[in-house]
Formats: sequence, structure tokens, C-alpha cells
Amino acid sequence: MKVLVLNCGSSSLKYQLFDMGDERVLAKGLIERIGIEGSRLKHTKVGSDAVSIETSIPDHKVAVKLVLDALLDKGHGVLSSLDELSAVGHRVVHAGEKFACSVRLDGAVMDALKECVPLAPLHNPANITGIEAITAVLPEVPQVGVFDTAFHQTMPKEAYMYGIPYRYYEDYKVRRYGFHGTSHFFVANRCAEILGKPIEDLKIITCHLGNGSSITAVKNGKCVDTTMGFTPLAGVLMGTRCGDIDPSIVKFIAEKEGSVDKADSLLNKESGVHGVSGISSDLRDIEDGMAKGDERATLAFNMLSYGITKYIGAYAAAMGGVDAIVFTAGIGENCSLIRESATASLGFLGVSVDSKKNDFRGEERVISSDDSKVKVVVVPTNEELVIARDTKKLVSL
Ligand code: AMP
Repeated sequence: MKVLVLNCGSSSLKYQLFDMGDERVLAKGLIERIGIEGSRLKHTKVGSDAVSIETSIPDHKVAVKLVLDALLDKGHGVLSSLDELSAVGHRVVHAGEKFACSVRLDGAVMDALKECVPLAPLHNPANITGIEAITAVLPEVPQVGVFDTAFHQTMPKEAYMYGIPYRYYEDYKVRRYGFHGTSHFFVANRCAEILGKPIEDLKIITCHLGNGSSITAVKNGKCVDTTMGFTPLAGVLMGTRCGDIDPSIVKFIAEKEGSVDKADSLLNKESGVHGVSGISSDLRDIEDGMAKGDERATLAFNMLSYGITKYIGAYAAAMGGVDAIVFTAGIGENCSLIRESATASLGFLGVSVDSKKNDFRGEERVISSDDSKVKVVVVPTNEELVIARDTKKLVSL
């Protein structure tokens, strides 16, 4: 069975084609600048060199056609006919409280996703456009939606409610939703496999640290709390997002900047590691700055590290203990310094990271010392594989 996985952004489209017989990736690629001058497709048939095609891509329908043409191409393609394509799985950011797991897409589901647009005005319209583009081009092929919010739907009410008048929850569904759920689900389950224990017996804290970052408490396989909230702005310091701040700062900044929209943009796009350091949102640049003795780069790094430590402590308390801590995503997988510094003061919880084992990047490894009570593990995330697996499962029912 061959499954195409799509992740549609407002001007981009990422894809991977899986052979679900052995879960192998056959081809993958990225389309950028959809609807903008200079649009292009970068396509890789696994095992071959990447090809780059620059062409006009005015909308997602054209983008989807281009992906299918690339998959069918005699040189760099991997399909001889579109009949080989059994299903398409889509990453969808927000399902509100409507779906706690992946679903087959049909008219009723699409209506539900459209109702969630006010909750994710930047992301859900792009995801919906991608689904509609596939429906237009491949109307007979079944499609599945896999939601970033779904894994977090098991949080207890005291973890997801905010201390504002209850009617805001009833009338507008203002609550903590959490994001990166597919990644937290994947790495928590993989961690349990690595430890050789059923996830139902484990308390795991998963740290997804990338350009956007979130930390999740996973008790007995279920999410019980997570750092992102109503939007992905909450939690630890991120590349350009501020993370947790006093909500009154929004009013203060809005008055200084002249509008709430400007304040919102400043907190999402000009804050975080970038805003504090004044150098970059990329932690590699921050590490370079620290090596040169830059004080604000050091401050940004320390703020991120401190935030991670604080949430690990909080979630250990929330779960009544912790058996394992997982690091994943761009920073979690690649930055040994943040893994070491964020766990350095957690000896009181039984956490001990072995500096030698931790000195690597981008692989799956246990980095805790042999006598560490809490296991610390690096697991490269693979959201696309979760989407492909859920898609296969749902279309095989
Ligand atoms: P992601 O959003 O998961 O793709 O993560 C992207 C981020 O990972 C980048 O912006 C960097 O901050 C970080 N990153 C990637 N590689 C490294 C590295 N070798 N060392 C430190 N940070 C890294």
C-alpha cells in the first residue's frame, strides 16, 4: 500500500510518499512560495539526487498536480500510475474539541474543520485548501486527517481551563489545546519501546524543542498537560515566539506599538530567542554568539534552558514522578548543550545525564548514565510516519 502524506502551509507544501509494506519513504519533497513569485519544487527520489523545478505555482491545486507529476516522472518518479496511490494523509493543525484521534475525511469532517478556522486562522485554511486540492485532482482516493491537537484531548479539565469567566469556554471554546501532538505521541511511544516497558506503566516528559517548542506530560500513554495553550504562543521561549508572559504585557505593548495586531505580531515573530538575543532565532547562531562571549545570546540560551528545567519539575510534580525524559525536534535532537544544561539541576529527581553519551547529534540514543533513576532519551521525531500509519489503519477498516 502506498500512502502520500501532505503538510500544507499557507504558501508551502511538504510531502512524503510511503510504501507501507515496510514503512519505507520512496520520495519526498517541498514546494515553496505557492502564489508568490519564484515558486519552486524540490523533489527527491530516495537514493537519488534531489531535483529542483522552478515554475509558476499560483495555488495549491497546481502544487498538488506538480507533486503528482513528480511522483509519476520517468526519471525521478516512483509511481507508474496514480492507481498505485491507496490514500492521502494530511497534517491538520487544529481540530478543536471535535476530534481526539485521526479520522477519514468526508463532508461532515470538513465542515467541522472549517468551524475550527477561528481557532487557527493561519494554519487550518491552508490545510483545508490542501485537502480540497487532492479531492479535486484525485476524487476517488480516500483521505485522512491527523491533528496536532488530538493527542492533547485527554488533558483533565483543571489542566486545560484558564482562570477567565467560564462563558469564554462555553461561547468561544477558549481553553488550552496544545500542539505538536503527533510528535509527542510518536516520541513517547518510541521511548517506551526503547525502555522495553509498556507505555501504560510509564510517566514520560517529552520535550519537542524546535523553532516552535512544547513540553508534554504523558502519564500511562495519555497527555495530562502540555505547555502550548489556546495558541502555540504559550510555554517555553521559542525561536521568535515569547512563550509564557504576564498577559497584561499584551495591553502594554499594544499601546506602545499602536494596535493589538502589531503587539500580536511582535510576540509571535519578533520575540523569543531572536528578540532577546538580537542575533537570530536559530540556536546554532546563539551557540556561536555564546562562544564569542555575547551576553544576550547567553541570556537567551539560559532562558530557554531554565524554562525547560522548570516545566520538567512541574510535570514531574503533576504526574507524581517521572520515569523518562525525551528530547526531540531540531534543538532537542541536535543541541547537546541544551540537553545537558536543562537537566543539570534535576539530580534531586534522579536525573543524571552522561556527558560522553550526550556528545552527539541527530540520532536515537539513551543519554542518561547507567545508574540514572530517570532515563533520558533522544528520539528523532517522525510525524509523517504517524500520519502514514494512521492513514493506512483508517482506510483499511
Ligand atoms: P525544527 O523546527 O524542529 O525544524 O527545528 C529547527 C531549529 O533547530 C533551528 O531553528 C535551530 O534553532 C535548531 N537546530 C538545528 N540544528 C541544530 C544544531 N546542530 N544545534 C543547535 N540547534 C539546532
